[in-house]
Amino acid sequence: MRPGKALKFYSLMIDRVSNHRPFIIPIFLPHAGCPHQCIFCNQTAITGVKQSIVSSETVDLLIDEFLEYKRPYRRPAQVAFYGGNFLGLKKDAIRRLLDHTMRSVTNGRIDSIRFSTRPETIDQEHLEIISDYPVSTVEIGVQSMDDRVLAMAKRGHTAADTVTAVKLLKERGYTIGLQTMVGLPGDDETGSFYTAQRIAELVPDFVRIYPTIVLENSRLGRWYAQGKYNPWPLTRCVAHVKDLYLYYKEKAIPVIRMGLQASEDLDKGAAILSGPYHPAFGHMVHSEIFMDMAAEVMENRTAFEETVTIKVHPRSISKMRGLKNKNVNALKKRYHIKSLKIVPDTSLPEDQLAVSSLSNSTGIDLKI
Ligand code: SF4
Repeated sequence: MRPGKALKFYSLMIDRVSNHRPFIIPIFLPHAGCPHQCIFCNQTAITGVKQSIVSSETVDLLIDEFLEYKRPYRRPAQVAFYGGNFLGLKKDAIRRLLDHTMRSVTNGRIDSIRFSTRPETIDQEHLEIISDYPVSTVEIGVQSMDDRVLAMAKRGHTAADTVTAVKLLKERGYTIGLQTMVGLPGDDETGSFYTAQRIAELVPDFVRIYPTIVLENSRLGRWYAQGKYNPWPLTRCVAHVKDLYLYYKEKAIPVIRMGLQASEDLDKGAAILSGPYHPAFGHMVHSEIFMDMAAEVMENRTAFEETVTIKVHPRSISKMRGLKNKNVNALKKRYHIKSLKIVPDTSLPEDQLAVSSLSNSTGIDLKI
């Protein structure tokens, strides 16, 4: 992947993601409906939720809480059943949860429902069940499109199951999200990029990318303790996810999440034995992209400048700066800049930057 080529797609994707993003009310059902525990997984550790099945009252309480305190103005609201294998639940449990949640759609409190499920659970029988309800989005736990990696992760499905699942969902017009992982046993950059290519061929509506973290009470945790598995370092993972992100951008497929959602338990680190977890993982990826963009401009400048100003949209200031001013310090050092200012400019799109300097007295900004 040539970053210069892919960077121009960055703009298009930011617009597509921000315009269509629903307000999600997550309801976690840790390991509910799972046929077994996949080697990397410990949903109780990730979500901090202990009970795998929720009562109707809890569904209502969560909807109330999110709508009252957290809903941003005018975003459509969607209840999301996450943390398990939704269509692997018993059919009466699926119907009970959907029946109850549908009432909140009927009375106008929320707009639709989504859930995550395993690829092999998506068949005509289950699709008939959910067709009675206002389900608009289905997220599939794909993890990898490499059957060897899937077998090592003891997933119990193949890449072909994902292809079939996406086809069935598309026939019925669902919005489709594909969840993928980076750094599973047997995975490397080449294999992971192969997965991205196979996923792009399926043309999902969005993708999530999760680094493989070693969680306590998981088989991967035991492998790690026995020296059979070593997670990717954070820097390697961020660099590779950046390439994947730019690849998906080139293919006009939004990446709506990179890195695990930060939670109190994860941030305390108690549940993490090792691995590339960072609460600001996605921010780090975006910061590297801004660093690359700024470096590309600096490499192409015709004159040496000691004072440089980089303008970015106000919402992109921290991405341009990087965590703890990492990008600012690196640019100053690499290009011998004495004074580097990052200033807000609302006329710029969120994904662009403009560089000006004292020698650039014509006032023409350099944009990527
Ligand atoms: S990865 Fe998905 S299917 Fe596997 S144990 Fe976790 S929630 Fe269940």
